[in-house]
Amino acid sequence: MDVRWIDSHCHLQAPEFAADRDAVWSAARMAGVTGAILPAVNLADCAAVNACCARHAGTFPAYGIHPLFVDTAQEAHLARLAEMLERARPLALGEIGLDGWVARADSARQEFFFTAQLALARDFDLPVILHVRKAIDAVLKQLRRFRVKGGIAHAFNGSRQQADEFLRLGFRLGFGGSLTYPGSTRIRALAQTLPDEALVLETDAPDIPPRWLLHRRNHPAELPAIGRVLAELRAAPVSRIAALTCQNTLEAVGGRRRTARAPAPSERHPPGEGGAFALAEQSDGCIAISCLPPPVL
Ligand SMILES: [Zn+2]
Repeated sequence: MDVRWIDSHCHLQAPEFAADRDAVWSAARMAGVTGAILPAVNLADCAAVNACCARHAGTFPAYGIHPLFVDTAQEAHLARLAEMLERARPLALGEIGLDGWVARADSARQEFFFTAQLALARDFDLPVILHVRKAIDAVLKQLRRFRVKGGIAHAFNGSRQQADEFLRLGFRLGFGGSLTYPGSTRIRALAQTLPDEALVLETDAPDIPPRWLLHRRNHPAELPAIGRVLAELRAAPVSRIAALTCQNTLEAVGGRRRTARAPAPSERHPPGEGGAFALAEQSDGCIAISCLPPPVL
């Protein structure tokens, strides 16, 4: 069986891909990236995510208000987000979190939108995609208050103790371009030593380019090369790293693995129209995220 990968965090909907989005996603598919989760950064971006997911097979939406976009968010946006979650049932709530690195970010406002969205994730029983930068303990504190069903802490860069606390709270940890830099000693040590079930792979495209792209735009076709670096660090076969990171991503956003047959193409439903996402094992043994039709009420 071919080696397949899932990009657990990719902003394919971003304006940086406006000119060549189709080509970028087909290059990723050709490289063996069978799926990608597209987290939104604000309400307008949720619409962009939806349009992208409707057009590109294998891409799946997450809706949320990013901590660096709270300055333009309004309280009314939370009610609107709740309506969108109800109607479109995305795969996850995200990208949400706290960013203590960017000086302009208002921390009280970030906390307000973060905790309100954690409450939504709990109400809608959705996994969460977290943005955590220089705010790990503050994020963990809120996760202990709002017991969501887990999810992914993207671009993880914390201590082993903090990593273990995320795992205890049901989260997987996202590793991407940063682990390709020899100077990223802490991230590389974590990628080397964390248990198999902790790890998911991501590009965060168009951001966090791997070492060989040298500040150029990152894109999802780089995921297998990043995965090969992870395999080297763990002294594990590439196929094993691909399989376990795919499985972990699916479990992170799907709750549990569904082993039922994959729905036939005629049964599939475009995202954003009330279908529910589910995990399924395809006839070739590859696990994919599927979108099932809405339940008949
Ligand atoms: Zn992101």
